[in-house]
Amino acid sequence: MRIAIAGAGIAGAYVAHLLGEKGIEPELFDSMEHDTTCGYRSCGWGAPRAIGSYLARAGLNFEDYLLEPMSSMTFDGLVARTPLCSIDKPHLLRDLSSGLPVHRDPLGTKKADSFDVIIDATGINRAFLPPCRSDLVLPTVQQRVKVESRGSTHLGAGVYGNRIPGLGYLWIFPLGHEQYHFGVGGIRLDRHESIIEQFYEENARRYSFTPICSCRGVVRVASPYHSMPLHASRLREDGTPQQIIGVGEAIGTVAPFTGEGIIYSLECAQLLSDSWPDVEQYAASVLARFHWMRKERETLDYLLSIGKESGPRLRDRWRLYQNARRSGITLSLIEAFRRMGGLSRWVENP
Ligand SMILES: Cc1cc2nc3c(=O)[nH]c(=O)nc-3n(C[C@H](O)[C@H](O)[C@H](O)COP(=O)(O)OP(=O)(O)OC[C@H]3O[C@@H](n4cnc5c(N)ncnc54)[C@H](O)[C@@H]3O)c2cc1C
Repeated sequence: MRIAIAGAGIAGAYVAHLLGEKGIEPELFDSMEHDTTCGYRSCGWGAPRAIGSYLARAGLNFEDYLLEPMSSMTFDGLVARTPLCSIDKPHLLRDLSSGLPVHRDPLGTKKADSFDVIIDATGINRAFLPPCRSDLVLPTVQQRVKVESRGSTHLGAGVYGNRIPGLGYLWIFPLGHEQYHFGVGGIRLDRHESIIEQFYEENARRYSFTPICSCRGVVRVASPYHSMPLHASRLREDGTPQQIIGVGEAIGTVAPFTGEGIIYSLECAQLLSDSWPDVEQYAASVLARFHWMRKERETLDYLLSIGKESGPRLRDRWRLYQNARRSGITLSLIEAFRRMGGLSRWVENP
C-alpha cells in the first residue's frame, strides 16, 4: 500500500514519525511555499511544556526548542501563571522532518493518484478532503518586533481581548533577544494592523518598537465536529478507490477560543497512529477527545449571533474557565467568570 502525507507541518511530520515506528513508510510532500520571512506558516510559536512528551517520542528534546518561558502572562490586566513557552517552531519543524523522505513539491491531484492513501495534513488548505460541514476561520496579522525598554520595565507576555472590538485577541509572545511576536486575531475584524499600531503608540514612552517582518494568516477554529468529514474515499482516474484521512488543523484540531493548534495537532497525529489502519476508530477518537472544541465552537457561534445587549451565558463562562484549566493557566473560577463578562462588550452585531 502506498501512502502519501500532504503537508510537512507539525501534524504531517509527526504522523510520519509515528507511522515509521510501526514500519510504515509514507512519502511526505510539502513545497513550503509560505509568504513569510521565516519561510514557515504564520504562527505565534506559543506552546505548553506538555509538548515535550510528544517530542520525546520522536527523539527530540523540548529544551532544544525553548525560546522563552511564559510562566507569567497578563490576561487583560490579570497576571496568571501558565505552563506556556515560546518555541523555535522553524527549528522544530526542520528537526521533525529531517531523516524523512520529503518531496519539496505540493502534492497535486495527478501525482496523488499513484497513492492508495492520502493523509491530508495540509492545515488550513485542506487540499484533499471535501469542504468542512461548517467552517469557521480566524483571520490574523502578526509582526515580529524588536522591543527595547526605555527604562527598567520589561515587556512581559500578554493576551488582550479587550483591545479587539469583536471576537478575538491581541497576543504578545517574547521570543528572546528583545524580539517578540505581536499578533491580532479577530473574527469579522478588518483593522488588525491598526490595533497593533495602537498598542505601540500607547506604550511608546516605555518601549521602542521596531517591526522586523509581518505576515497574514488564518486559523481554522471550526472544531473537528464541524470539520467533518474527517476521512473520505474517492475514485482515482483508473476507477480504483483511494482513502483520504485528515489530521491536524485540516480537520480542525485547534482550540476555538484561543487558536492554539500545535499541541492538538501532535495529539491528533498520535490518535491517527494509534488507530492505524482503522479510520472509523480514529474518527470516533478524534471526536471524543476533542469534544470540548465543539462546545467552544458553540459558544463562538452563539456570541457571533447575538446582539450587543446579551452577554455570555453561564455555560460560556464555564467553558472559558475549563479552557484556562486545560491550558494549565491558574485563573480562579471567579476571575474566569468575570473575564468572560467582558466578552459581551467585545461582541459586535454582524
Ligand atoms: C498567526 C497565527 C498564530 C498562531 N499561533 C499559534 C500559537 O502560538 N500556538 C499554537 O499552538 N498554535 C498557533 N497557531 C495555530 C497553529 O500554527 C496551527 O494550528 C498548527 O500549526 C497546525 O499544524 P498542521 O500541521 O495541522 O498544519 P500547518 O502547520 O498549517 O501545516 C500544513 C502544511 O501543509 C502544506 N501544504 C498545504 N497544501 C499542500 C499540498 N497541496 N501539498 C503538500 N503540502 C501542502 C503547507 O505548506 C504546510 O506546511 C497559529 C496560527 C496562526 C495563523
